Amino acid sequence: MNTWLDLKLTQPLVVKMLERSLEKDRLAHAYLFEGSRGTGKKQVALQLAKSFFCKERLGIEPCQTCSDCKRIEHGNHPDIHFITPDGQSIKKAQVEHLQKEFSYRGMESAQKVYIVEDADKMTASAGNSLLKFLEDPTAPTVAILLTERGSKILPTIHSRSQHLTFAPLPRDAFMKKLEEEGISRVISSVLASLTTSFDEAIGLTEGDWIAQARSVVIQLYEELHDRPSQVFFTLQEKWLPLFKDRREQELGLDLILLWLRDLLYIQVGKYDELTYIDQQNQLEQQALSTSQEKMSRNMSAVLEAKRHLSANVNVQLLMEKLLLSIQEG
Ligand SMILES: [Zn+2]
Repeated sequence: MNTWLDLKLTQPLVVKMLERSLEKDRLAHAYLFEGSRGTGKKQVALQLAKSFFCKERLGIEPCQTCSDCKRIEHGNHPDIHFITPDGQSIKKAQVEHLQKEFSYRGMESAQKVYIVEDADKMTASAGNSLLKFLEDPTAPTVAILLTERGSKILPTIHSRSQHLTFAPLPRDAFMKKLEEEGISRVISSVLASLTTSFDEAIGLTEGDWIAQARSVVIQLYEELHDRPSQVFFTLQEKWLPLFKDRREQELGLDLILLWLRDLLYIQVGKYDELTYIDQQNQLEQQALSTSQEKMSRNMSAVLEAKRHLSANVNVQLLMEKLLLSIQEG
């Protein structure tokens, strides 16, 4: 269960806008919530619905205990309707079905909230049907359209909705969400440094890929530092089989960059910014024996390698060159 105060921590701008409308009792007829998965669009939509229906509201905070609040929490409030894609799209018949349902109920309960998930999947006729519905003055309704791709929303709907953009989560909140999915803190930390997309982060955990990738980077650095003669063997045996396509190779180079960044963080005492949170000892040892100049040269070398990645580049040669230049500093 969230409060507006909680939600404000992750989406301050969105909450501030809604807060203002709730305080003035002037909600828009339609909202378009745009943001990637995991940014809290649905939580905010449900919270808005609670504030809309709750009669025991304190300021803008719903009471969370009245029957309206409880039914919303349990997903069985009679005046909140969810529309989700039926197969590949949201069809006109789905919207019409709602309209019919609404007219059966007459004016018994005038207020309604519609939450349309994956609103970009509405067909043009479904969208237009929804619009007509929204503009019906006899039916005071609030529609909340949720989408990851605002550019795919019909312009007619776009122009009649209040558009709120959900920002990617701050690092801490993003890690917490990943941990809620059962991902360890050590891995969540790496994922949060690589991406702000929840879907992409989850994708990288498939087949334990990210855990293996992370180990190989740690191993490479250990060898660069202590057993340089091993490095090319590890490249051959472990790196090349794991970082196969261009995207994976790019991520591999990003993981190397993150290790270098951690070395810099250690040198300037920013321990709470570390990506490789369980490697502090190893990082400290390496940071002691290297200068900031050398590290920034190494970072440039990695960035240079990233620029050269392309479909037909010889990755083995590219990586050998990079590892040599890191060794030489
Ligand atoms: Zn309530």
